[in-house]
Amino acid sequence: MEAKFYTLFDDKIIVCNLCPHQCKIASGKRGICDVRYNSDGLLITENYGKVSSINLDPIEKKPLYHFFPGSVILSVGSVGCNLECEFCQNWEISQNGVYNFPYLKNYSIDEITNYVLSKKNNIGVAYTYNEPTVWFEYMLDIAVKINESKLKNVIVTNGYINEEPLNILINYIDAFSIDLKAFTEEFYKKITHSELKPVKDTLKLISKNNKHIEITNLIVTGLNDDETAFEEMCKWIKNELGENTVLHLSRYFPHYKCTIPGTSLKTLTKLFDIASGHLNYVYLGNVMSDSGSNTYCDKCRKILISRQGYQTEIIGLENSGKCKFCGNKIMPDFNLS
Ligand code: SF4
Repeated sequence: MEAKFYTLFDDKIIVCNLCPHQCKIASGKRGICDVRYNSDGLLITENYGKVSSINLDPIEKKPLYHFFPGSVILSVGSVGCNLECEFCQNWEISQNGVYNFPYLKNYSIDEITNYVLSKKNNIGVAYTYNEPTVWFEYMLDIAVKINESKLKNVIVTNGYINEEPLNILINYIDAFSIDLKAFTEEFYKKITHSELKPVKDTLKLISKNNKHIEITNLIVTGLNDDETAFEEMCKWIKNELGENTVLHLSRYFPHYKCTIPGTSLKTLTKLFDIASGHLNYVYLGNVMSDSGSNTYCDKCRKILISRQGYQTEIIGLENSGKCKFCGNKIMPDFNLS
């Protein structure tokens, strides 16, 4: 299928405008994401309709803690990524293209939407597992259908996307789970081979459009656990996106090319305390403890949601997303309408 967002640069050389890499792709070659291919001057989205994983997941696994808590969502992934994080947890699918990953299954748009509608209590579709913006066209075609069915679209993304495609996506996506991997350009350049600024721009644009955002920051020992840079990030989130923006601090374990030992609980707890000084809803993820996973009202401090792993019990929250005890608005309402 022909891809969107590209221009012909010179004699069959293509510039892809989907993400800030703006790859210049010669005929017969692919861009950095390994899934957009120049076929004689035509840009092809090779992973259209190619699914690597499809599962019914708790929404908390995305992670989204303030969006339809306790619900499940059909989660769909493909292959490819426009970043090359050395610690990638899903590198088998993110760092391969269609041509070298033999386990893909074909799903048409109708097959996905029928699957979604057949699953009881499912709130919609999450585009996840690998970076979904690199299968923009397939995701958008599904999202339009899900939107028409009055169900929800959720994206789990690194936020490395250009403004034009993002503006289109925003019309259909209800909740964004965004990886903010660090708060220095140096980290983004060295560890992910990309840039921080476009990710900040993405966050600001989504927030301006009043869409639900939760941010995940994977804390990697010695790479992005500097307390000063971390506090800068928390202040930026508060000032640009608001103090009620949800921040998940996720514990790193060695993966892919990264052999640094797993992040200590001491480091995570210290950063959790710093973040909690600026933001109202901070959570800990990937830890074998339930501390840092419950939701408390930021006004009356009563417990609203208790979580143990992916077991969620709603204790003090109305379906309107308000605290049952003091009426404080905590999150979007969670009625499907
Ligand atoms: S989406 Fe892929 S091909 Fe397009 S600019 Fe980004 S990395 Fe390059």
